Amino acid sequence: MVGENVKALSYKNEDTEVLDLKGKFITPGFIDSHVHLMTGGRSLLNVDLRDANTPEEFSRRVGNFAKTLELGDWIMEGNWDHTLWGGELPKKEWIDSITPNTPVLLFRLDWHMALANSAALKFAGIDNKTLDVIGGEIIKDSNGQLTGLFKDNAMNLVLDKIPAMTPKQKDLAFSAAQNYFVSNGVTSVHDVDGLNKDFESYSVARKYLDNNDLKVRIYAATPLNEWRKLRDMKDESDEWLKTGCLKGFVDGSLGSHTAVFHDHYSDNHSDHGLFINTSDSLYSWIVNADKLGQHVFVHAIGDSANHVVLDIFEKATKENGRKDRRFRIEHAQHLLPDDIPRFSQLGVIGSMQPYHAIDDGRWAEDYIGSERIKTSYAFKALLEADATVTFGSDWAVAPASPLLGIYAAVTRRTLDGKNPNGWVPEEKITIEAALKAYTSTAAFASFDDDIKGTLSSGKLADFVILSDNITQIDPVKIKDVKVLRTYVGGKQVFTSTSPNDR
Ligand SMILES: [Zn+2]
Repeated sequence: MVGENVKALSYKNEDTEVLDLKGKFITPGFIDSHVHLMTGGRSLLNVDLRDANTPEEFSRRVGNFAKTLELGDWIMEGNWDHTLWGGELPKKEWIDSITPNTPVLLFRLDWHMALANSAALKFAGIDNKTLDVIGGEIIKDSNGQLTGLFKDNAMNLVLDKIPAMTPKQKDLAFSAAQNYFVSNGVTSVHDVDGLNKDFESYSVARKYLDNNDLKVRIYAATPLNEWRKLRDMKDESDEWLKTGCLKGFVDGSLGSHTAVFHDHYSDNHSDHGLFINTSDSLYSWIVNADKLGQHVFVHAIGDSANHVVLDIFEKATKENGRKDRRFRIEHAQHLLPDDIPRFSQLGVIGSMQPYHAIDDGRWAEDYIGSERIKTSYAFKALLEADATVTFGSDWAVAPASPLLGIYAAVTRRTLDGKNPNGWVPEEKITIEAALKAYTSTAAFASFDDDIKGTLSSGKLADFVILSDNITQIDPVKIKDVKVLRTYVGGKQVFTSTSPNDR
């Protein structure tokens, strides 16, 4: 129940723990609308290159991590960011001599580019003659030699050869992930890879649920092109673990130059990006899935990619008739001005990640110019056009910290400190709006608004205690606010161990 002290105390018995929060702040449990759970969990157990800011540091960390491994182990993840050392892309020579026998596949933090070392290339049977694949690119140097870099679908040439995670590795990754979520105040996640055969969290989550060890509620997505698999699966959804959604792709990412734009990239006049799937395939998957009542999400970054997806959603809606379908565009990152009102007209949810704005905001203008950035990460414009906007992190692309996400949406201060008043400040939103996008709207975005997203009677007791009232402090300080305790279903699943937080 929720309400006044007198009434609350009437429920008290000898087992009741009464907490006086002494003015601390309580919010509904945060819902992260976009995570990659298994790969995120695996990244917590792997080499961390996210803040490696020189090529030397990159190599040093990989070399040190390699020393901790056993023969046959791979080094994965990494989440490197070449913009931190000036933009030169990494190459296999940076790590070959320190990993002669350890296969390595390290992702750029957006997962749209990856670096393989020579051991991994050999393992995967890739050489200078290997052909590009549709929707992907093998990057070669001016002499036609492999650099070790792969973009989008070409990454599968290596990925497909990597031994699947063992049950033990999956278990460790899952456990690390759920502990990480609750430490950030996240009580529900939408796992866009939940039923992706390579990275699926669903079966592990089911085991944890059966053992009463599941700490976070999961909405697990099936790959869009496998909508038949979802149709044929027994639906065992409950308030902990839920299926019924699908996630597909139309393009790649801005950082890897694979997001598809109507006009060319500002720094490469022959480049418009890369469609990962054709609109015909997307349409056929979506219209069939929607007919069955499945919930469709599509990743779209570039303005042209978003336009294509909106058109497909519009066409599928005409074909199947009006209903409550809550189509989602994941990222909705760069929009043509005329497409902004279409979100509310078509009832399409923008599933966005505010942290990307303060991260990519460091260099996005170099890629797309000063005009297109005005309708990039356009939280305010979408909300003002009555669109439904839900927030998430895209972890492990960005940290799964809703507080950092709220800070990003409210301040739009880029990570390099160069935009103290906000990057494209017109698109800053209020704390209340950001909080809503991480709670009640995120619940709506998974058809769970009847059971979660607000602190109200009859809803699940998922809530978080924060060190400060984020609605009243200076927005710049939101990033320093701490999660003190996290409760899911009334059970405490996280408590801060820092003595200052008690
Ligand atoms: Zn993602």
